[in-house]
Amino acid sequence: MDESLKKLEQWLKEAKNICFLTGAGMSTESGIPDFRSQNGLWSKNLEFTEIVSRWYFEESPDQFWRYFKEIFRTKLLHNYEPNRGHYFLAGLEKLNKQVSIITQNIDGLHQEAGSSTVYEIHGSIRSAACPECGRNYNLYYINSHEVPLCDSHGGRTILKPDVVLFGDAVHHLEEALDAALQSDLFIVLGSSLQVTPINQIPQLVSYKNGIRNVIINLEETIFDDIFDLVIHKKIGDAVSQVNM
Ligand code: NAD
Repeated sequence: MDESLKKLEQWLKEAKNICFLTGAGMSTESGIPDFRSQNGLWSKNLEFTEIVSRWYFEESPDQFWRYFKEIFRTKLLHNYEPNRGHYFLAGLEKLNKQVSIITQNIDGLHQEAGSSTVYEIHGSIRSAACPECGRNYNLYYINSHEVPLCDSHGGRTILKPDVVLFGDAVHHLEEALDAALQSDLFIVLGSSLQVTPINQIPQLVSYKNGIRNVIINLEETIFDDIFDLVIHKKIGDAVSQVNM
């Protein structure tokens, strides 16, 4: 095992309260593409930020849903499973560690792996709600209707997916920040840290004394120098070498 993984193992063993911030790279080993690395989805959908936006949903909700279903087809079909990284995080709870996960992902895989405290700051692909009455609908309902409508209001109101669209506020930001600042070990997993305001969390953590600050990401990020430990490896490969 190389020195960086030995240090990670030691810090995980010593930690009592661990906070993870996960991004799209957490789920690539489950077969869900990320956005910004070379083969990611981002480069193939140049107008993504315009389509997956509150503005577009309000302007043209029918067309929004058609594009949304195309862009998020893999996630909507939900034929993927948690990977060794997700299970590693869930396993830490069984070792009496306090674990919280702030995730930018909308795929629900941390909960499926068994993690209990998950802040889905960009919402979830697994449900949608009526903008008028707030009634919730599940993934089965979303997938069974080309443009999902609320049963009430004469069946005319188009549902809004529970994902945070460009132009929406992120969810649970305050709780997420609290969890990060109360931890003694903070670990970013699989994120390019290009999305604000989320990329401010590791910066705030780095200003506070007493929190060890780690990133595991395949590629370099613009924030690598604020971390105490930087590991450029696949998450699954890294955690499978750690013995707890
Ligand atoms: P990003 O695509 O910007 O960055 C992902 C990073 O993960 C890249 O730097 C890449 O090098 C790294 N990576 C890929 N596979 C890895 C692996 N196996 N091990 C370690 N690192 C790996 O992702 P982001 O920072 O999360 O921002 C993208 C936005 O897209 C987020 O807002 C997120 O909500 C959304 N998104 C979500 C999903 C999902 O729900 N699974 C998938 C794609 C994008």
